Formats: sequence, structure tokens, C-alpha cells
Amino acid sequence: MSLSIVVNCDRSVPYGTCAARLHTGAATEAEAYEAAERAGWDVGGGHDFCPAHSHRPTRLTPPTRLHPEETPNR
Ligand SMILES: [Zn+2]
Repeated sequence: MSLSIVVNCDRSVPYGTCAARLHTGAATEAEAYEAAERAGWDVGGGHDFCPAHSHRPTRLTPPTRLHPEETPNR
């Protein structure tokens, strides 16, 4: 038989827990967590969270100037 570890999201939602599941295809827990991390999951801290519920900071894009060529005095 083959073994595949499924990572579940532990985030509580109003009617139970998040339904997100990740079929890692890994045979060991370490490989499963590695695969989950690559997929954007927040794992290994006692609870596992899907990308939508991970607590990782989102990358901020620097502000862009809309009209850099405009000057106040023409
Ligand atoms: Zn989730």
C-alpha cells in the first residue's frame, strides 16, 4: 500500500474547522511539512494553517508615485 499524509487546517470557523486539506503525497511527517511549506502553509508550530489562515506577514509593495513628472509650479 502507499501512504500519503494529508495536512489539515486547524483554524476554527463558525461551524467546525476550516475545510482546507493538502494531500502532500509525502510518506513521512517531515516531508509532508516540507511540501506544505512550499505550498504556502504555516505548519510545524503545533497547529497547521492553510495559506488563507497562515499568520505570515504579507509582502508589502512599495508605494508608487502616480505622476512623478508633475511639479507644483508650472
Ligand atoms: Zn484554513
